[in-house]
Amino acid sequence: MRKERGLLIVLSGPSGVGKGTVRKELFSQPDTNYEYSISMTTRKAREGEVDGVDYFFKEKEAFEQLIEQEKLLEYAQYVGNYYGTPIDYVNETLDAGRDVFLEIEVQGASQIREKAPDGLFIFLAPPSLSELQSRLVGRGTETEDVIATRIEAANKELEMMNLYDYVVENDEVQLACDRINSIVVAEHCRRERVEKQYLAMLKGE
Ligand code: 5GP
Repeated sequence: MRKERGLLIVLSGPSGVGKGTVRKELFSQPDTNYEYSISMTTRKAREGEVDGVDYFFKEKEAFEQLIEQEKLLEYAQYVGNYYGTPIDYVNETLDAGRDVFLEIEVQGASQIREKAPDGLFIFLAPPSLSELQSRLVGRGTETEDVIATRIEAANKELEMMNLYDYVVENDEVQLACDRINSIVVAEHCRRERVEKQYLAMLKGE
């Protein structure tokens, strides 16, 4: 029987909602079976971040060259920097039958929605906007201007929820991870996906 192509899992949501924390928790669990796609960015590395682990850190010119060469599945400008997903890694991993997990902001997610509509789109939502604000400020690593810009962006992003298949509230990191894992299991059992495999088998593919 033909090997099923991997599932493209896109986790997105407002800035400060905890996408990074949820993603790190998922990938710290030994039974997580998804491959994390490391993004490229032109932002400077924060303390403790490692090139090739947290991000591939690039100069602006190098990033723009990758855009021109169509080496990115999606990219976005976010708070003055470029962020993008290297396309080759995603395609090779999916072709090998493994699930790929992206953790990206919402502009990038909507680009992928158009290019890969059979992906699984999960919106990570804050328990409430006031909690979102206190989390943004509480992180303590950003200036007030940056925080204000991020809150404005987050309001717009919330309106974009309708582009997604599922909404996962990030009330507790572990609960959010459990919900995401359950959604992925269910998605693999979706009739449309399974049926394709059976039809291919009957055709002898
Ligand atoms: P940070 O600078 O805090 O690491 O990330 C800022 C935002 O960029 C976060 O919302 C993060 O999810 C998003 N992001 C990280 N990698 C990518 C990517 O490859 N593409 C897009 N569109 N957004 C990304």
